[in-house]
Amino acid sequence: MNQETQVFDHIICPFCGCLCDDIRLEVQGNKITKNELGCAISKAKFLSHHEDRISPTIRRNGTHVEVSLYEAIGRAVEILASAKRPLVYGLSSTENDAHREAYKIAETTGGVVDNTSSVCHGPTILGVQESGEAAGSLAEVKHRADTVIYWGSNPQFAHPRHISRYVRVQGEYIKDPKADRKIWVFDIRKTITANMADEFVKIEPGKDLEFIGALRALVRGHPLDFEEVAGVSARQLAEIVEALKATKYGILFFGLGLTQSTGRHRNIDAAIRLVQDLNSFGKWNMMPMRGHFNVAGANKTSTWQTGYPFAVDYARGYPRYQPGEYTSVDVLARGEADAMLNIAADPAAHFPRQAVKHMSTIPVINIDPKRNMTSLIAEVNIPAALAGIECDGAAVRMDGLPLYLKKVIDPPDGVLPDRDVLRMIHDKLKKEVG
Ligand code: SF4
Repeated sequence: MNQETQVFDHIICPFCGCLCDDIRLEVQGNKITKNELGCAISKAKFLSHHEDRISPTIRRNGTHVEVSLYEAIGRAVEILASAKRPLVYGLSSTENDAHREAYKIAETTGGVVDNTSSVCHGPTILGVQESGEAAGSLAEVKHRADTVIYWGSNPQFAHPRHISRYVRVQGEYIKDPKADRKIWVFDIRKTITANMADEFVKIEPGKDLEFIGALRALVRGHPLDFEEVAGVSARQLAEIVEALKATKYGILFFGLGLTQSTGRHRNIDAAIRLVQDLNSFGKWNMMPMRGHFNVAGANKTSTWQTGYPFAVDYARGYPRYQPGEYTSVDVLARGEADAMLNIAADPAAHFPRQAVKHMSTIPVINIDPKRNMTSLIAEVNIPAALAGIECDGAAVRMDGLPLYLKKVIDPPDGVLPDRDVLRMIHDKLKKEVG
C-alpha cells in the first residue's frame, strides 16, 4: 500500500450544521493522520474514522451473527415487505442522494418517513410555515452583523467554530470584531458561550414566550406595567430593546433551548414576529443552529421529494403531513410501527423511553457506519461508508447553502455508501411488493 502522505485542502467537516469547508487533512495509506483547522469534535470524527465500525449482522436466537452484506439486505427486504406500518427514520448524518432512496422505500412500502428534525428544529419549521422566515447567510453575518444573539444555544460547546468563523472575526464592514460587534446570550443558565459573550440575559426556564412578548411590546412602543418578566427586570428589558433598535444588522441564532422549551413552535412564531418588528429599525435575520451536519438537507430533500419537510405518511399511497401524528416518536410511542428502518441516526440513544421501549419489540434495520445504541437492539445491522470521508455527496449548511462533500479515503472492504445500500434494498423490495 502506498504510505506516502497525501494532503487534502478545503475539505468539509461532516459533523455539525456549520459544515466548515476549510479543513486540511493528511492521509497516509488509507488512514487520516492529521486534521488541521478542525475543532476537537472534527478531529475526533476524522481521526477515528476506522474505529467502532459495524459489520453486516442479523439477530439469531438473541445474538448478532455476522452475515454477508447480501444476506443482511435480503433480511431487511423481508422485514420491510411484510410490515404493515414501517417507519423510515434518521437521514441527518448522511448525504442528499441517500435521502432520495429512503423516500422511495417509504413510498413503496406505504410507510412513514421522518428525520431527526422532528426531535430538534421541527418547531422551527412549524413556526416558519406559520409566520414566514427572515433568513440570511452566514457570510452576511460575518461581514455585516453588529449585533449577534444566541438564544437557547451554546455554540462554544455544540458548534465550536461558529463564533471564531463568523462572529469574532473581521468582516467587510466589521473592522474590529470586539468593538464593532456585540454578542448577546439569552439562556436559562450561564453557559460557556455566555461566559465569553458581551452580555448575558438569564431567562427563567420555560418563560421564553413571555420574554419575547415583553420585548415585542417595548419595541412597538407599549410600556410594560410589570416590574419584571421571565426573571428580567423592566429596566434591563428597556436597555435590551434600546440596543436591539439601535442595531444596523442583527442576527438571532437560536437552538433547542428555544425550540424545545415550553411553547415550542409558538416560541419560534413569536421570535419570527420579534425579528419582523425589529426590521422596522434595522436589518434583522434569524437562523436555527442546526445540529447534525445534514439535518437541513433532510428537510430540503424531503420537501423536494414528498412536498413536506418531515413527518410524512405514505399509507394511502400519497404523502400526508402531520407533525405530532406521523412524527417518529409519536408513531413509536403509540405502538403503531411494526418495523423500523433507521439510517444515519441513533434513536435508541435519543428518543423518549416509551418510543425506545416499542423499538425493542419490533424488527429494526439499522444502517450506520459505526456501533451505537440502535445497533445493539437492531435485528439487522448494515454498515455504510462515512459520508464526507469515505464517499462524496451533497449536504446543506445551517443557512441553507448546499455544499459538496468530498471523499478522501476508501471505505472498508465491502462497505458501500448509504445511497447504494438503500438503492439495493429498494430495487429488491420493488420486485417483492411490486
Ligand atoms: S464547528 Fe462543526 S463543522 Fe466546524 S469543524 Fe467543528 S464540528 Fe466540524
